[in-house]
This record gives sequence, structure tokens and C-alpha cells, in this order.
Amino acid sequence: MGYLRKTIEEARGYVPGEQPQDASYVKLNTNENPYPPSPKALEAARTTANEWLRKYPDPLANPVREVVAKLFHVTPEMVVCGNGSDELLAMAVRAFVDPGTALATSDPTYSLYETLASLHGAELESHSCKEDFSLPVDELAASKAPLVVLSNPNAPTGVAASADDLATIAGSIPGVLLVDEAYVDFADEDAMALARSEENVLVLRTLSKSYSLAGLRFGFLVGPSKLAAGIMKLKDSYNCDRLSIATAEAALQDQAYMQKNVAKIRQERQRLTEELRKLGFDVPESRANFVFARPPKGTAGELYMQLKGRGILVRYFDKPRVKEYVRITVGTPDEVTTLLTELVSLFE
Ligand SMILES: *Cc1c(COP(=O)(O)O)cnc(C)c1O
Repeated sequence: MGYLRKTIEEARGYVPGEQPQDASYVKLNTNENPYPPSPKALEAARTTANEWLRKYPDPLANPVREVVAKLFHVTPEMVVCGNGSDELLAMAVRAFVDPGTALATSDPTYSLYETLASLHGAELESHSCKEDFSLPVDELAASKAPLVVLSNPNAPTGVAASADDLATIAGSIPGVLLVDEAYVDFADEDAMALARSEENVLVLRTLSKSYSLAGLRFGFLVGPSKLAAGIMKLKDSYNCDRLSIATAEAALQDQAYMQKNVAKIRQERQRLTEELRKLGFDVPESRANFVFARPPKGTAGELYMQLKGRGILVRYFDKPRVKEYVRITVGTPDEVTTLLTELVSLFE
């Protein structure tokens, strides 16, 4: 017998995408934004790196809660800030899921949900997406799980469910619906109205993708103040630090800069989708900053290796169904062109 609790011993930890710490690859594997963060955010980070770092930060990250409240027409009491949205997902599992009960989600989806359930000693109640990767809405609506977590747009497919479908699910489940909107700024619709009107809906956002701040670690949850207050009880006292609070506040205030980058990425997403389809790839319509693409011949695993050999990193998941596809982050026009040139040489 080892020293670890059985739940931990048996859990599979989360396996992140490759993060080479040099710039030798065209890195299209972990959905980072190819553009730099807002200059105003970087300025805030620099000016906050001062003697005040000897003091603890605001425990609730109130400056950010206030900006979020204004942006989304909610009150600061409805906002919980976290050290990346991954931390907020872990907090939601602890807040709503008794060990032994289940976390419900779709399959495929972000594999961290499964990891968090297993670390918590909870079951994973997994509902298969349809053939076109759309959500099994009726099945999810019938779930009795205390927490249903849906990534929307979904990872790794990029496919988005409508706000109406999410409302249907929220309206019929006994538990909480948490909509992980990591990619929603690249989409056409969001579920923030549900977080305002429903007593069991939480919306999760991150600054890692659309705001180009994956290295900062900042996310926030929005939803009914009762749920927010409950989650806050199990938060580490100072989960967000002074630098991240100031930087996140400035980044969120600079909506114009974020939207400008989002527009460029959406345009490249369209070009990449069209060119991949011309080469014979199957590409579900993506509403995120990546595309999910099944090669016309050979396996996706081989394609991943071939591209890596040519200095291009994409994401490959060796799991049923998704293993037929690679997930490609939408980069700059130059990066997309580099990728397409290699793909033309392989598939044309
Ligand atoms: C990237 C991603 C996150 C993680 O966000 P962080 O704020 O960087 O922790 C959460 N959910 C999904 C679906 C993601 O793809």
C-alpha cells in the first residue's frame, strides 16, 4: 500500500499539450492567441511590479469583479475570480458534487472535466455528441447529476450549441449547469443572459484565449450571487495575485483591442477551414480559435508526426472517435500559410 489516498492513486492526472519553452515550432497545439496582449494590460503589469508587492492582494479581486459586472450587466456579487478558469472548474466540482455522485458532460469534450471528477472521487456521466458533434440535448436535459459542465463552443471540436439548447438543459435539470465559455469571444452567441436570469446557471470565462493572457492565469465565473458566495467559501484566500488582478482589469477594459484580434482570427479560421476542405479534410464548422480536421487519407496520428517533423505542432488525441482528427489552433496569416503549404505538399 502506498501513502496516497485511493482516489488519487487511481486518478489519471490531466495531461496538458506539449509546451516547448523555446520558439522553435510553429505552435498551433494549445489554442493560444498568436497576437500579444493589450499594450494597456502590459503597461498595468509593469506599473504594478513595484514595492506594493510586499502587501497581500485584494482577496476577492474586486477591481476585476467591478469591470466584469459593468461589461456583462451583473453585480460584483455575481462574479468569482480565479487563477485561470481551470481553478474555477475545480472549485465548482468541490462546491456542487458530493464524492460518489456524478459530474455530467459531453463526449468528446475538454478532458480536464473527467480528471477533476476522478480526483474528487466522483463519477463521470458522459453523454456522446451526435454524429455531427452537436450536443445530445435531450439526454443532457434528463441528467440527474448535481453538476453538468459543457464547453461551449466545445473543445476539441469547435462546435457550438445554441443558447436556446442550453436554456432547455438548464430548465430541466435538478443540478447546476456550468457553461465553460473559454472560446465564446470567437463565437456568435453566449449564455450570459442565462447566468443573469436562471438560478442554476454559471458561465465561465478565461483571459487565456481571446485576451492573449494564457501565461497570466486569470478566469472568472458569473452567475447567481448565492452560488457565487458558496464557491467563494472554498476559495484560497489570495488565489489571484496583485499582478494578475491589475493586468486582467486593464485587459478587460480594452475590449476594442481584444475584438480586433478576434476579428483577425475569425477571418483566418474561415480561410483555414475552406482550404482544408478543398484538400479533402472533414472540418466541422468551428466557432472557436481552432479547427478540428480529419485528413482525407492516412491517420491523424501520422499527420501529427509528419507536421511535427516539419516544425509545426498541432494537437492529437489518441482516444476513440477524436483520434481521427487533429486540432489546429488558428495562428497568424503567416502561420496558417506555412501550415497550408505543408498540407498541400502532403495531400495534393
Ligand atoms: C483553455 C481552456 C480552459 C482553460 O483556461 P485557463 O483559464 O487557461 O485555465 C478552460 N476550458 C476550456 C474548454 C479550455 O479550452
